[in-house]
Amino acid sequence: MERFTGRNVLITGGGSGIGQATVHRILAEGGRVVAVDVNEDGLKATLDRATAEGTADRLTTTVLDVSDEAAVRAGVAEAVAALGGLDALVNAAGILRSSHTHETSLDFWNKVIAVNLTGTFLMTREALPALLAGGKGVVVNFSSTSATFAHPYMAAYAATKGGIQSFTHAIAAEYAKQGLRAVCVAPGSIDSGMTHDPGLPADADFSLLAKLSPAIGQGFAGPETVAGVIAMLASDDGAFVTGTELRIDGGTHM
Ligand code: NAP
Repeated sequence: MERFTGRNVLITGGGSGIGQATVHRILAEGGRVVAVDVNEDGLKATLDRATAEGTADRLTTTVLDVSDEAAVRAGVAEAVAALGGLDALVNAAGILRSSHTHETSLDFWNKVIAVNLTGTFLMTREALPALLAGGKGVVVNFSSTSATFAHPYMAAYAATKGGIQSFTHAIAAEYAKQGLRAVCVAPGSIDSGMTHDPGLPADADFSLLAKLSPAIGQGFAGPETVAGVIAMLASDDGAFVTGTELRIDGGTHM
């Protein structure tokens, strides 16, 4: 499939997990990609794999903190200039932090909000003019099954993901007449840097986490399972999908 030939895509969190898998999926389908992340080593690994696969000539990697307003403003402008326009933004960057809510500090809370929710807002705000200029731009945001299914010890994280869903619905309506589509993926039980160590409290009650196993497959799935869905949503195959979210969790939350 070559659904992204001639298309330009900006992907955050491109140095690990689902964002990284999405970079390689879009490159494999002919797209040009700017991948950003705070994880410099991760971005190097992304570039090394693209070099091995012969797609590196269509990939630019840049260290960028999505919660830093000035850096996002400059980074998105540079990305749009390097690509010569923008067709899709994939906001995969995120952090998972767990704690007992009654022990959660304001700094902890603010950090999770800043990266996940504010980062998604800042990237989207800065990318919108270029996305609208093309007439059929797409924003793919990252919700989570934690937004609608209770995940204990992850209240701050879940709140950001619920906020991202609401934000995505609002912009889908606001810019629909200008051809923009905005959708969320809601992954769950995906093997990635984030799920290797969710940082649960030492005294976590695991009976509260009973619904975290997929119904299909042999445990957690690889990040490429989400990347394929993102490629569909960001391509013309997703042309009639907007203002909604798609759960990708192997039936964990059926
Ligand atoms: P991941 O492997 O940890 O990838 C997230 C990437 O975002 C990491 O490279 C991380 O860098 C980077 N990042 C963190 N803070 C950043 C910042 N301020 N600016 C730019 N980049 C930053 O985890 P993942 O599972 O692929 O996560 C991708 C998205 O999927 C996230 O939004 C996550 O919430 C969502 N999600 C994942 C699952 C799952 O089951 N895996 C379920 C629901 C939702 P560091 O490694 O240095 O932190």
